[in-house]
Amino acid sequence: MPCICSPSEIQKSLSRWFKLNGRQLPWRETNDPYAIWLSEVILQQTRVDQGMSYYLRFLDRYPDIFALAAADEEEVLHLWQGLGYYSRGRNLLKTARRVVEQFDGCMPRDYKQICSLPGIGAYTASAILSFAYNLPHACVDGNIYRVLSRLGAIDLPIDSTEGKKIFQEEANALLDKENPGLHNQAIMELGALVCTPRMPRCTECPVISCCAAYKLGIHAELPVKRAKPEVKHRYLTFFFVRLLSSDGNCTLIHKRPGGDVWQGLYELPLVETEQAASEDELYRRVRELLPFAGNDALLTGPLFSLKHALTHQQLHILFYSLELSADQYTDDAETAFKKIRIEELDQYPFPKPINLFFESDLYFL
Ligand code: SF4
Repeated sequence: MPCICSPSEIQKSLSRWFKLNGRQLPWRETNDPYAIWLSEVILQQTRVDQGMSYYLRFLDRYPDIFALAAADEEEVLHLWQGLGYYSRGRNLLKTARRVVEQFDGCMPRDYKQICSLPGIGAYTASAILSFAYNLPHACVDGNIYRVLSRLGAIDLPIDSTEGKKIFQEEANALLDKENPGLHNQAIMELGALVCTPRMPRCTECPVISCCAAYKLGIHAELPVKRAKPEVKHRYLTFFFVRLLSSDGNCTLIHKRPGGDVWQGLYELPLVETEQAASEDELYRRVRELLPFAGNDALLTGPLFSLKHALTHQQLHILFYSLELSADQYTDDAETAFKKIRIEELDQYPFPKPINLFFESDLYFL
């Protein structure tokens, strides 16, 4: 269905509505490109109410890009803990260092240059350039895909190559080039507050008279996505090792390598199996993993279990405790594990499921 209204009619309605109804959010009160970039990275895959406290904490700890560039990765990941998708935290640091080294600490104003920075894709680049510098770049995020697909009754899958191209062209055509920052924010806010995925509030919508999907009665069916890829199931069993000694108890942790989830974070000794493992198998595998644990080591559990969903992966996670005398572990034992005192655990960044186990206090049982 062809466009019902002209771009300028839609722009005016959106802008009027946004000025009256837009939420007051701290990253909207500034045009500092550093703060805007920080908020955009934090808010990817994260709800506004959850992301807010991280945004404020990061700005408090690193008030400018120079302070962030000088931080070490472990400290940044520690602050990032709980947000998930840790590659975002690592890219945050890499980009801060690149901007300081190559651009004197000033976020580039050029689209190609800004897109060359780690973790900055087309959406984030357009958001920074339009919100901070008021440059005419149209954003396309999940909210905007939804609004555009409904306004124009476009049933192309939003995650297909063709769909992405067409929706970007639609967004470019609709962009208010005089006020690109305000326009981008307004259309995103419409998607967040009114044109919601389920039960859109069409009667409160400022562009209802322009909405082709509403006129056709198909707004609930849009946007369209391709069939989902298969989810991989992984079975992870972590062992909270307690090395008992008279002068305080220690445990073992391990820094995760690259090439898998949670790169650079710490974990407890882990056994991964292709399906749920029997107690006998776990017992055998943990002895292979920790050969210094003799037959008298006390294995207890499962103490805690949870399921954790990642993109295309479903993790089935169990926690056991393994008690042994500190004498059984010697620093020259051939092991990839780091021995630390139990009280020091909070000094290391762990993935969310392991933190949930620590917060459960069950590991003290
Ligand atoms: Fe979305 Fe309804 Fe507005 Fe159309 S009328 S843009 S479906 S809220």
